[in-house]
Amino acid sequence: MRVLCATCGVENDTGEEVCAICADERQYLPPGGQRWTTLAELAAGGCRIEITEREPDLYALHAKPKADIGQSAMLVRTPGGNLLWEVPGFVDDAALAAVRELGGVAAVMASHPHMYGCQLEWARAFDAPVYVAEKDREWLRRTGPEVVTWSEPFEVLPGITALQTGGHFPGSTVACWSAGGEGRGVLLSGDTVKAVPAAGWVTFMRSYPNDIPLSAAVVSRIAAAVASLTFDRLYDNFGLTVPHDARAAVARSAERYVAWVRGDHDDLT
Ligand SMILES: [Zn+2]
Repeated sequence: MRVLCATCGVENDTGEEVCAICADERQYLPPGGQRWTTLAELAAGGCRIEITEREPDLYALHAKPKADIGQSAMLVRTPGGNLLWEVPGFVDDAALAAVRELGGVAAVMASHPHMYGCQLEWARAFDAPVYVAEKDREWLRRTGPEVVTWSEPFEVLPGITALQTGGHFPGSTVACWSAGGEGRGVLLSGDTVKAVPAAGWVTFMRSYPNDIPLSAAVVSRIAAAVASLTFDRLYDNFGLTVPHDARAAVARSAERYVAWVRGDHDDLT
């Protein structure tokens, strides 16, 4: 049975003793140390995939109880096939049947390695490719013929453009779904660009659990790359959204971030 890291939920057949993704400074090992699990063990514990509609043709998938970092995976339905964006750390026959009901999966892509989940397991069930950013391929803990690496911006499916802005990981990716958000465009931002509780704001980090920032130069670069895309709404990978004017929110938030790390407001501290 396939081995999964019990902390990040990423499938792993490397035989390594400690999950390299969790041992990295952007993640963490739990206090008791590395723990592995399997799909069978998760299923025996009552795990299932809960699917909720976020807007027409966009569904969130959550492993309940949590089997990964707690990400909100997304299924984007398009006439040219569906994208599974971010991947839950669990899958079972019921989840596959429910997704098949919604049109299946034509492509699998994660914004960065923390979101790989059991991506090959999902891809094989639908005979779909797994698109992996070339710059992050070293983080794959399981590979197979389904894996296709990519470097340049490209249309992962008709109407969905994937773009590597880097930041959190060198290959950190966002995906722009042009038909979403009532036709004004949706940015699936992963945590390349992370929504925050304050309405109309986002942020950028090297590590969220460990609060490691990025530099002003990198945040400016991310904001410039994102500004090349057309969208009105943003969904991050933990269920937060900027429902409108998200493109302006990214620009405004990058300016605020840069001002703080540059020291413009040090008198306030
Ligand atoms: Zn892990």
